[in-house]
Amino acid sequence: MSGTRKLHIKSYGCQMNVYDSQRMTDTMAREGFVAAAEAEDADLIVLNTCHIREKAAEKVYSELGRVRRLKDAAARDGRKVVVAVAGCVAQAEGEEIIRRAPIVDIVLGPQNYHRLPALVARAERGGKVVDTEFPVEDKFDHLPAASREATRARGVSAFVTVQEGCDKFCTFCVVPYTRGAEISRPAAKIVAEVEQLAAAGVREVTLIGQNVNAYHGAGPDGTWSLARLLHRVAEVPGLARLRYATSHPRDMDADLIAAHRDLASLMPQLHLPVQSGSDRILAVMNRRHTRADYLYVIARLREARPDMAFTSDFIVGSPGETEADFAATLAIVGEVGYAGAFSFKYSPRPGTPAAERDDQVDDAVKVERLARLQAAIDRNQAAFNARCVGRTLDVLFEKPGRLPGQLVGRSPYLQPVQAMAPAALIGAVRAVTITRAGANSLFGELATPAPHAAAREPTALAEIVET
Ligand code: SAM
Ligand code: SF4
Repeated sequence: MSGTRKLHIKSYGCQMNVYDSQRMTDTMAREGFVAAAEAEDADLIVLNTCHIREKAAEKVYSELGRVRRLKDAAARDGRKVVVAVAGCVAQAEGEEIIRRAPIVDIVLGPQNYHRLPALVARAERGGKVVDTEFPVEDKFDHLPAASREATRARGVSAFVTVQEGCDKFCTFCVVPYTRGAEISRPAAKIVAEVEQLAAAGVREVTLIGQNVNAYHGAGPDGTWSLARLLHRVAEVPGLARLRYATSHPRDMDADLIAAHRDLASLMPQLHLPVQSGSDRILAVMNRRHTRADYLYVIARLREARPDMAFTSDFIVGSPGETEADFAATLAIVGEVGYAGAFSFKYSPRPGTPAAERDDQVDDAVKVERLARLQAAIDRNQAAFNARCVGRTLDVLFEKPGRLPGQLVGRSPYLQPVQAMAPAALIGAVRAVTITRAGANSLFGELATPAPHAAAREPTALAEIVET
């Protein structure tokens, strides 16, 4: 293939999909495709889908209606548009997608993205193809790295997938079926990718995986845990901040907890989903931990790093959930004092054990419980944000804010922070005194002079880019 054609990828769902979409963009760049922000003038449209809840899949089918109109309009102009559905809906529904939406040319599971160029070539010749095998080869060995320019354009904070798939089989969840068994990438490949990102100006890396703390990749001297990997990645020159997501409470081992005490660049923030505060529901969910186990892990992390901020995922209206079970969920929100959380109505997923149960909760009850839970989470988040007012926090500036002269960055606790600051500070960590807390973000002023921040972080992205 040659010449410049346009590729538009729309990503749904989790950070893993954002990362995968970037890697597909990098793969197609080698084939002469440039990324297009709009689907209208694209020659290849990829929907990178999520299957975690029913609504997510339905959104894809409604988007395919819009794509059909674009494809028909292009055909009238004599232009062929190739349409691919990738991700977990593709994996779960396979050929059914082409049956429901015949404009789709390619259905591609998450383990097969490295095959996209060959599949596009086939589709351009008029073939339809469904590729949802779990291949023996590792897609990461075949997906090219991003160019320096593409990395810079994506900003100063990047995701790196270190682990994929899941062996936990929570009874509500499709991930073990759509993403397959847990696999970890070799440590050396992850370190090389982080080094490339840092050399291009990335200052913050989040190591991601469906169960990132179950990481057990091949290292130079045997199997490495996530803690070991974090220690190594923390040595990469230029990196200011490290995070990891999403973690399972059962896999928070002592070394990982200690890493929060020992690694200055490991941010004091953790997304640790509990799903429910009721032991009975946790057992039905097959989470394999109790409420007490979870609170114990939280306490050990706070011992290691007293200012740890926690976020969580919650599911309300799981099969058999009573008002007493739900009360236990509401109680754990206050007990942990979350800095924020995602909460969802239980959505039965075909093929999962929870969907087969005959004690499903009424939708009206789910709606009412979700509203109460969200109100409790909002109160905790507001209290957490309010406690930041008057403090001076290190902020990694990421991009221009809404107002002229303003930048937006992130606090160590992942809150967005807005402050008046020169654009040259994009990519730099600076101390900001927080003056006001909104519902979702903080507002502050550069603390000048900022000796500790300046000493640790002499190099702004602008400086790196120019050298
Ligand atoms: N691996 C992570 C963990 O163990 O917590 C979560 C991965 S999952 C992609 C993200 C979140 O989606 C889950 O934490 C859960 O709250 C939610 N989720 C998963 N299946 C769901 C379902 N059937 N209905 C509603 N929410 C669901
Ligand atoms: Fe899904 Fe449970 Fe695996 Fe998380 S740990 S991906 S919720 S099965």
